[in-house]
Amino acid sequence: MASGKKRVKLYGLVVSPGLARGRVCLLGRPVTVKRRSVSRDQIPKELERLNRAIEAVREDLRRTRRVIGHDLGEKEATIFDAQLLVLDDPYFRNRIESVVKDEQLAAETAIDAVVQEFASRLADAADGHLREGIEHFRDVGERLVEYLIEQSSRDPCPDRGDDLILVAEEITPTQVAHLNQRSVRGIVTGRGGATSHAAILARSLGVPMVANVRHGLRYLEPGAPVIVDAYRGIVIVHPLPRDVRLFERRQEEIAIQLAQEDEILRHPSHTRDGREVHLYANIGSPDEVEEALARGAEGIGLYRTEIHFLNRARLPGEEEQFGYYRAVAEKARPRPVVIRTLDLGGDKLGRFLRMEPEDNPYLGLRAIRISLARPELFLTQIRALLRAAVSGNVRILLPMVSTVEEVEAARRLVERAKDELSAAGIPFGRDVPLGAMIEVPSAAMLVRDLLGLVDFVSVGTNDLIQYTVAVDRGNAQVSQLYEPLNPAVLRLLDSIRKAADEAGKEVAICGEMAGDTRYTALLVGLGYQHLSMSPFFIPQVKRVILNLHYSDAQRVAARILEIPRIERIRRELRSFARRLDREARSGLEPA
Ligand code: PEP
Ligand code: MG
Repeated sequence: MASGKKRVKLYGLVVSPGLARGRVCLLGRPVTVKRRSVSRDQIPKELERLNRAIEAVREDLRRTRRVIGHDLGEKEATIFDAQLLVLDDPYFRNRIESVVKDEQLAAETAIDAVVQEFASRLADAADGHLREGIEHFRDVGERLVEYLIEQSSRDPCPDRGDDLILVAEEITPTQVAHLNQRSVRGIVTGRGGATSHAAILARSLGVPMVANVRHGLRYLEPGAPVIVDAYRGIVIVHPLPRDVRLFERRQEEIAIQLAQEDEILRHPSHTRDGREVHLYANIGSPDEVEEALARGAEGIGLYRTEIHFLNRARLPGEEEQFGYYRAVAEKARPRPVVIRTLDLGGDKLGRFLRMEPEDNPYLGLRAIRISLARPELFLTQIRALLRAAVSGNVRILLPMVSTVEEVEAARRLVERAKDELSAAGIPFGRDVPLGAMIEVPSAAMLVRDLLGLVDFVSVGTNDLIQYTVAVDRGNAQVSQLYEPLNPAVLRLLDSIRKAADEAGKEVAICGEMAGDTRYTALLVGLGYQHLSMSPFFIPQVKRVILNLHYSDAQRVAARILEIPRIERIRRELRSFARRLDREARSGLEPA
């Protein structure tokens, strides 16, 4: 699988877990519509073409619905019911017809224009369900246009191989549905998240999918060999022989882990010598709570609230936000849910912010800095969060804190939000714990002072690594420096945990490191008892904990804290992991 081309490692979001290896099949935009005007006497012909397209697409959607219903079940098939409703929506059809007539446009041009118009209107809608409709309008519009210009994207990949990894900026539910009949091994997209319908179908089909690799998409040229680790959200283009060997080993490990998962889920999470380590889930929308709990999460350790607001032209209002936060609180009740205030900026820019471009967005107006610069945004979110706290065990977490003053200012705004709610007679939670993320070196150095102002802290290792080592977490060229085992990071982790213990306050880790089994023993040995991760990893991390002696882990962590070189730290950890493996295999089953 090695080739002369340069190896590139990309990071994205896991939206359908699994492992896949194959060659890139690059999908363009399914259809491109050229603007075509028609003369007045051609209009009846265009309306007739539109009519025929609607009939044909209706037939095709019904067929797809039957196949998906039969193969995957009724729940998945309802996606196509929704598309049939869109197709037969009289308002949609009338609008296309009037654009054909009034603007003298060909049917496909009119469809394209109306779909764009509806999509941008829905993007601004207050109701979340309405916005979900965008995907359906786009998909139905594409089907109609394909029919009309006889350019089929129905079979999205012309390549006939049986080891294809589909790569696209975005993928539609229709394209995923057609994979059903193809041997596609994996999907990688530039945009999108876990809750798109394409992602839901990919999960049902068991096709591993990594979304949101963003600019990384340009490295995925057609035919390139690629490895997709849709457990960790990693895509390796032009893998080296050692990547392939590691991939094969991971395939074997995952098979063993999956076989043991049920057994592991039944055990409470503690080490062999009784040290409790609580495991929580990181989520990006209320839809993920059930799955998180089913995988053994003791609560939600990080709800990244900005994720589902990113593609919006306007930030949702208080009522809509309240709906999301209450849903999470209710579903998880009585377990805790840590809801993070908007972490916008960096690579996450909502269109609604309309910010000036920045030279260094990661060092710019991001997260709490935006919230404090735009108090009306922050107050809206805080009011929604305080109200949701009536329905469950809500905690508020402030991202990217770098000074004591920021926390003080945030606290004042929380108090103001409470006063506003009291004055309006709206019920809210009065004692909602407030926490700070420790993800910037200055916050790590100030953690004792910050702990005087907050009820808990949560370490965001993703950013803590990037800011401590001064390495962009998304830049493939310096990815070798993005290293959780950098001793500077480990020593910060050690001092943060000690400060929290001294203050008698809870400290968690919610960056990717918390869900990576290579680091579990080390984090437990450093004294961490609250780890939050993507739900998929919970059973694997728990498995390591169940096999571990806290006293051994403490000894290894103490030794590692003395080592200044990354490679030696890695060797030390590996040899400890091998010892644990041997013990587990020699019949010492989980306590
Ligand atoms: C982190 O930085 O570790 C973190 C959890 O926040 P995000 O990944 O959303 O920046
Ligand atoms: Mg962060």
